[in-house]
Amino acid sequence: MKIHKLLEKPTTKNYVIRAIKYIFSVTPALMISLIFITVVNGLAATVNASLTHITLDSMSNMLENNQDFRFIIGIVALMVLTMIFFPILTSLEGLLRTRITQKINKSVKADLMEKMSKIEYENFDDKEIYDLSTRMLTEVETKVSQTVFSVLSLLSNVISAIGISYVVISLAWWMLPLSIVGAIPMFFVKFKSSEELNKAEKEMTYFNRISTYISNIILNKESMKEIKLFGILDYLKNIWRNNTEKSFKRRLIVESKYGKRGALVNILYVWVGTPLTFINILFVIRGTLTLADYLVLLNTVGTLGLTLVHGIPNQYGEVRKYKLFWDDLSVLSKLKDVTYKNFPGLEESKQFEIEFKDVYFRYPQCEEDTLKGITFTIHNGERVAIVGENGAGKSTIIKLLLGLYKPRSGMVTVNGCEVSAISPQIRKKIMSCVFQDFTKYFLSVRENIGFGDIDQIQNTEKIRDSAIKGLADPFIQKMPQGYDTMLGNIYGEGTDISEGQWQKLNISKAYNMDSNIIILDEPTASLDPIAEAEIYHTFKNLSEEKTCLLVSHRLGSAQIGERILVIQDGKIVEDGNHEQLLKNNGKYATMFQAQSKWYQEG
Ligand code: ADP
Repeated sequence: MKIHKLLEKPTTKNYVIRAIKYIFSVTPALMISLIFITVVNGLAATVNASLTHITLDSMSNMLENNQDFRFIIGIVALMVLTMIFFPILTSLEGLLRTRITQKINKSVKADLMEKMSKIEYENFDDKEIYDLSTRMLTEVETKVSQTVFSVLSLLSNVISAIGISYVVISLAWWMLPLSIVGAIPMFFVKFKSSEELNKAEKEMTYFNRISTYISNIILNKESMKEIKLFGILDYLKNIWRNNTEKSFKRRLIVESKYGKRGALVNILYVWVGTPLTFINILFVIRGTLTLADYLVLLNTVGTLGLTLVHGIPNQYGEVRKYKLFWDDLSVLSKLKDVTYKNFPGLEESKQFEIEFKDVYFRYPQCEEDTLKGITFTIHNGERVAIVGENGAGKSTIIKLLLGLYKPRSGMVTVNGCEVSAISPQIRKKIMSCVFQDFTKYFLSVRENIGFGDIDQIQNTEKIRDSAIKGLADPFIQKMPQGYDTMLGNIYGEGTDISEGQWQKLNISKAYNMDSNIIILDEPTASLDPIAEAEIYHTFKNLSEEKTCLLVSHRLGSAQIGERILVIQDGKIVEDGNHEQLLKNNGKYATMFQAQSKWYQEG
């Protein structure tokens, strides 16, 4: 059977059908077994009621001496068997649900991660998508199976109601329409409440996101230093509490509103039910109903009432609860995957030319352009520094060069190929980048460097060679397990290293990529001046043959660039080498003088 991807474009709008189809495709045998057991289990109340009726009838017949005692023994034996059979079935149902959930969990998370990695990077700037992904991450795995389980529980309740209705009709048909009409208001209350709860949950995402963020800050070792220093724990706790309370309150308002209405409808149902019981007693006295009929009717109408007023509406509410999740999935599945083009010869190329042609770029949901007509070419083997004040647009240029965003107009190309259309597999062979805000993987040293060339992760020699270039080898050698030392504080025995050491591992990772274009986005911000000078010196020697782009707001380090581009307010305002730019007496010269004065005074 074809495995449906959870995040494929949905073929139907009905989320229940989508959920069932998905589970069927992942685990058909378990799903069929579960449906079978659910249907049989749904008949439990009817079987019980029928057997009770037959027993009571036989007992009264026996009193009149026209019933064989062996028949009663047979019926009681059957009742005992059902008492054993149905609980076993219930346990089996539980077991099946656990097994299905386990199987589904794996594929749901995998599908979700795959989709998230394929969509355009700019989607993550969209608040709605951000909210949606926050919602998706909470219990995402269980929501798929829970949707189906709640539908099956609803089915079980409906089967139970139909079976019991049959028993009721056979005893006193007029009780059935009355029971159904009585249940309608409750059904309406449940329907409305689940609609409103869905709406509330959407609004609650915003508050939950803030409170989760704040609680993560409070519980984080890194931020704990500052929290203690500034004494801001109570202040942060207040933000956390306020947002948590807002979220709780929003939910409580809906639940209490519909809880009260539900209770009222329930009382009404009981008040209507009581006179009906008296009418039945009258029928028994008149002889229209037997005592056995009356007792079974009392029991079945009670069960039917519970099923109609609580079981079915509750389960229906439960099914509706998952609508938001499936709506979110639909939004996510409709997001376009990035498409890549095939650029023949690019992968084998050894020479690269980068070109920005009149590039305008605006971040999603921003009103103003961040880049305003950027044009430059970097020839093969050139070492270029991009400098400018904070917020000028330097990192944005790098993000465009890495193909994370597409220009609003203009072109960003490498050897004439549009970078955003180059597949990640090929792009990583061409370009490596050292970010300032890189990811620290709390895994081994080997992995932190080896991720630069995942196919060679076991090649210790290559990893060590990269670490030597990145100036990380000396401190790695001193670690207890060398390159296999676990980093970070999530392991009992993990080793903590300094910011500067993390950055050296990060730089080593970039060396490990072996690419011809090296991009450095403020890579030495966390290093001391000596380490910074050392890194740039090594870097200068190692990058002779390579094309290199360095972003920095420290002009001292920018001098390793043979050519310097000065960015101001999204435009290139100067282009030349250090001496030329000083002579120009423009933006670069002003910045250089200000910084050197600062260093001299410092
Ligand atoms: P620089 O690297 O020169 O310090 P950036 O390229 O990071 O500057 O940022 C340029 C401008 O773009 C800044 O005004 C910044 O606030 C804005 N910006 C950066 N990232 C985003 C984003 N994801 N969404 C909206 N605006 C952004």
